[in-house]
Amino acid sequence: MKVLKFGGTSVGSPERMKSVASLITESGEPTIVVLSAMSGTTNSLVEISNYLYKKNPEGANEVINNLERKYLGHVAELYSTDEYKEKTRAFLLDEFNYLRSFTKDLFTSFEEKAIVAQGEIISTNMVVNYLQETGTKAVLLNALDFMRTDKNGEPDTQYIREKLGEVMKNNPDYQIYIVQGFICRNAYGEVDNLQRGGSDYTASLIGAALPAEEIQIWTDIDGMHNNDPRIVDHTDAIRQLNFEEAAELAYFGAKILHPTCVQPAKYAGIPVRLKNTMDPRADGTIIDNVLVRGKIKAVAAKDNIVAIKIKSSRMLLATGFLRKVFEIFESYQTPIDMIATSEVGVSMSIDNATHLTEIVDELKKYGTVTVDSDMCIICVVGDLDWSNLGFETWATDALKDIPVRMISYGGSNYNISFLIKASDKKRALQNLSDTLFK
Ligand code: ADP
Ligand code: ASP
Ligand code: MG
Repeated sequence: MKVLKFGGTSVGSPERMKSVASLITESGEPTIVVLSAMSGTTNSLVEISNYLYKKNPEGANEVINNLERKYLGHVAELYSTDEYKEKTRAFLLDEFNYLRSFTKDLFTSFEEKAIVAQGEIISTNMVVNYLQETGTKAVLLNALDFMRTDKNGEPDTQYIREKLGEVMKNNPDYQIYIVQGFICRNAYGEVDNLQRGGSDYTASLIGAALPAEEIQIWTDIDGMHNNDPRIVDHTDAIRQLNFEEAAELAYFGAKILHPTCVQPAKYAGIPVRLKNTMDPRADGTIIDNVLVRGKIKAVAAKDNIVAIKIKSSRMLLATGFLRKVFEIFESYQTPIDMIATSEVGVSMSIDNATHLTEIVDELKKYGTVTVDSDMCIICVVGDLDWSNLGFETWATDALKDIPVRMISYGGSNYNISFLIKASDKKRALQNLSDTLFK
């Protein structure tokens, strides 16, 4: 079985939903289809939550009313029979009344999670109704029945495998299984999600749990490009990536994939194919075990990075110094992205500055601390095994006009990372494209 995931733009209008329906039914094979919310909807749901946090129910109601009007407008366009028009209309009215119910009570992150989950619940219901109306044997699986995270907020893969197995066994003989991306339950059974962009992660977790023969991520571009097409001129689609290369690119900012989406597929050895809904015949990108030797494949950038340097006051990297430093980050649940050490100190970068003040206060016990905010990581990805000659020089040379705060190389065979000012990002990415991919 294959798992196909369609992102927000791919289901962004009734017309797009119809195209998705014809794409997924074309092969006639049983398929699991993971859907995002229609594009813009999750943002609107976050906006509603923000109004409610600020105790502004009027603001929230206005967004709910606009969204409801928009969705009810889709009904006439998507369905042709009165039966399905009425069925979907009634479902949508229930949904929007449910959203309105949150404008009356106390608002916490628990309610926020329930609100942002509705985007995927709505889109999947609309598509499954359309498939059924047009005669496809389609069923809606409820992600909340089997997608679950553990106490650390990580996917509970064993639970997912077992519960999904049961759900599939109880629903034999369907051609299309539609399931909501993004949403899950946490270890306490509460509605939660896999973070923004998390539908990709749902698809790869389901693919690994089955296990599927292939996981396809359908989006609005013809595969992974060699640089960020939103920022750089003249980027090209890459036909093939190794799992490790794709994981580095996703983690270091290539928005086409959720940062952790490659991991489950990589561990299960399931190929991931990136495809373009607007141009289904285009090749796209295949992500698998093959590593093309001696090639730099792509560049990505990760934003909102803070660099922290601690210069040891006494003893110069004495035994235990790094342990103490790392423990401080660990106690505030703050992962370190990049690290560079010298005899007298250590520089690190983080992308979650929630506990920056506390971390810096504690680090100060061990030395002089300097913080640089508004930074970004530029990540050059490919076969960067140390035995390959010249690649570091090539990448560094492309950045010769740009101040570089930190360089990290050798941590993996697949990347070299540079920490620079966010204001230099565009220039750095363009220079790298011009040098590496011309
Ligand atoms: P979806 O809503 O389908 O999940 P996303 O917006 O999350 O789609 O991801 C697709 C977008 O990722 C593309 O439209 C493109 O602008 C952006 N993107 C950023 N970096 C890359 C890259 N290296 N290759 C391809 N697309 C990229
Ligand atoms: N709808 C969610 C979001 O916008 C999840 C996703 O699309 O992947 O972040
Ligand atoms: Mg996405």
